Amino acid sequence: MWRRLLRRKLARRRRSTLTIMAIPTTDGSIRSISIPLLLVYMGSAVAVAVVAFLVLSYFGMTATVARFYHQQIVKDAHIDKLAKENADLQRINASNKKQLEDFAQRTAELEKELARLDAMSKEIMGIIKGKKVSVTSTSVASRGDYQRGTAPGEERGEEDAPSSSGDDGALALETQSRLDELARTTAGVAGDLSALKRSAVSYRDRLDHTPQGWPTRGRVTSSFGRRRHPITGRIQGHDGIDIAAPTGTPIVATADGIVRLSGTQAGYGQLVIIDHGYGLETVYAHNSRNVVRSGQRVKRGQVIAYVGSTGTSTGPHVHYEVRVSGRPVNPRNYM
Ligand SMILES: [Zn+2]
Repeated sequence: MWRRLLRRKLARRRRSTLTIMAIPTTDGSIRSISIPLLLVYMGSAVAVAVVAFLVLSYFGMTATVARFYHQQIVKDAHIDKLAKENADLQRINASNKKQLEDFAQRTAELEKELARLDAMSKEIMGIIKGKKVSVTSTSVASRGDYQRGTAPGEERGEEDAPSSSGDDGALALETQSRLDELARTTAGVAGDLSALKRSAVSYRDRLDHTPQGWPTRGRVTSSFGRRRHPITGRIQGHDGIDIAAPTGTPIVATADGIVRLSGTQAGYGQLVIIDHGYGLETVYAHNSRNVVRSGQRVKRGQVIAYVGSTGTSTGPHVHYEVRVSGRPVNPRNYM
């Protein structure tokens, strides 16, 4: 029953048409075109579908393009980040290399400095033992050069260089701080040694200029102090000691110094007076012959005269005096 009704309705619809008429403004025949209504409906549906498809496609494409664009931006950012990280790593690498080279250089300098200090300590021992060494071979002047291993014209950019990362960085920092400490210690030891060397040099100088030993080998016939004068018979002071020795026996300087007098004085006969500095003088008198001149520099053990009996003397001997600040003291304390 309902099927027959539907068929009838569809048949009616198929038969109904849409008529479009064109009416000219001037005279002429009216034209008309009849389109089945079903076709109009179908055409409309197709048009709507096409428009919908186009709209959806547009949005879809836009979304795709936007997604692609976004991915590209992310990718670019990632590449930028990688490039930056790479640059950082290269800088860190260069910095580490520089740091290592720096360490190597400073280690070499410290080794050199330690070798210098070793040589200096040997030199000091030599000075104290009395070996002749050059006093000016080393000095504290070079100390500053070892403070930092900086090449000329190069700044140590510790602050601006990117700090090393990870364990290597920590190790590098620790090594650097230990090297700094070692450099400070070395500089301190160098300063101490320089001071010690100056002390040793002055000690040695003092020792070299202090009377020591005998001016000649012989028998002591008169000692220092109060005695009965062998000629006048009066009790009086004796300013030195008398050492009897055959005429012509060599007399040597008992310390380094400068000859203050080589000549003759009343009572002393022919004598030599040596100024040793530090307020010390020695006197060698009654000589048969002097072989040094006034102003001449002499060394300990150097022959300065020969034994005789000139001046107030009873026989060939050396009258030997040691004076401290001009006052005679017992030469026995210096023999
Ligand atoms: Zn005497």
